[in-house]
Amino acid sequence: MSLPASLLIASRPRPARISADQQPAFRAYVKNHYRGFLLAINLIAMIAYDLYVFADALLIPDMALESLLLRGGLSLVGLVNIYLVFRYSRSVLLMDMLMPIHDIISTIAWFELLKRSESPDVASFLFASVVFVLLANLGVRYSFRGILACSLVISAITLGNVWLLYDGDSKAVLIYVLVFLPVALFSLFISWTNIRSVKRAFLADQEERQQRAELATLTLQLQELAHTDPLTLTGNRRAFDQAMQLSWQQMRQGGRPFALLLIDIDYFKPYNDHYGHQAGDACLRQVAESMLGAMRSGQARLFRYGGEEFAILLDGCRRSELLRIAERLRQQVEALGLPHQRRADQLGHLTISIGAVLADPMLSELEQLLKRCDELLYRAKQEGRNRVCMESTSDE
Ligand code: GH3
Ligand code: MG
Ligand code: MG
Repeated sequence: MSLPASLLIASRPRPARISADQQPAFRAYVKNHYRGFLLAINLIAMIAYDLYVFADALLIPDMALESLLLRGGLSLVGLVNIYLVFRYSRSVLLMDMLMPIHDIISTIAWFELLKRSESPDVASFLFASVVFVLLANLGVRYSFRGILACSLVISAITLGNVWLLYDGDSKAVLIYVLVFLPVALFSLFISWTNIRSVKRAFLADQEERQQRAELATLTLQLQELAHTDPLTLTGNRRAFDQAMQLSWQQMRQGGRPFALLLIDIDYFKPYNDHYGHQAGDACLRQVAESMLGAMRSGQARLFRYGGEEFAILLDGCRRSELLRIAERLRQQVEALGLPHQRRADQLGHLTISIGAVLADPMLSELEQLLKRCDELLYRAKQEGRNRVCMESTSDE
């Protein structure tokens, strides 16, 4: 079992590039993490826009009423838009671009007020218009291309209107541009870094998810390895101890009955001595396979208890059934017809002996059950091997 490359390579900064395959996951990520921010920024921008009604009242008092009506009307439409987009739309792009689009409309509307005002403060007040591009640039988290396009539109509207308001006075326009451009470019750069951070966070999140999934798979594989006997691929002693403990607890708490079988290959030492250790190993595998074939899956679990001994746990088993299953196992192994010419009893083929016992809630210790089963196996050996010895510990 080898570790996946992603778990071995130390994490290092990666380019914030999102492939076409990752786009749907990225949209979902932005929606999960930034929907709240985008909704808040829409509302905050609207409140800020409405508060400018006081500045209008002070600096372009002849447009105060128009300002109030315009801002009120636009805010109403804006609120409906915000509700519709954040309540019903699934488009992250729309959530991201809603505030900049509102911003474009607000820019146009405000310049219309300035152009209609006779106030002497218009020339200085129009510097406040840098706030439109600033707000739009700082309020997005998803699409840099989208905000770049909106920024260009806002800049074109702003600069075009400034040109008109200054009546083509190139010096006044130049002064405005010298103020406007650094603000626009600076905020656009911040916007780019914000969006890049979101992408990086998404990619790190994806990597972490992948690593977690790989780790879970590895843990599962390790657990399987730690509980499997490498020779017979059945459960090992550790798995048996745990399964036995669990069955015992379930029986004591919920009254769920179970049975235990201990199986030992007869005359296996002389088999090994005569046919060799490798043949002995192959024989162990065949016996395990044969017993697995004889059991209904789900009902029984086979473990290698140690050496040439196996253990089987049977869930929800009755005495008559237990005897039948144990006998079937014995017959199945015998039917393999594996030659064994060195048996003391001269039978000529390989067999198993089985001790079988039903778990009894009256027993206070799990060890007592194991001991009882071991005694039954010993008795099967004593009585001539190739047989099942069973005795229920309860009075049925
Ligand atoms: P009995 O019928 O009384 O069980 O006689 P036995 O010869 O089978 O008894 P014993 O338990 O003394 O022998 C167990 C033998 O199993 C000893 C060893 O040679 C063999 N054995 C144990 N583990 C392995 C194994 O992993 N591979 C192989 N090939 N043989 C094993
Ligand atoms: Mg043995
Ligand atoms: Mg044996």
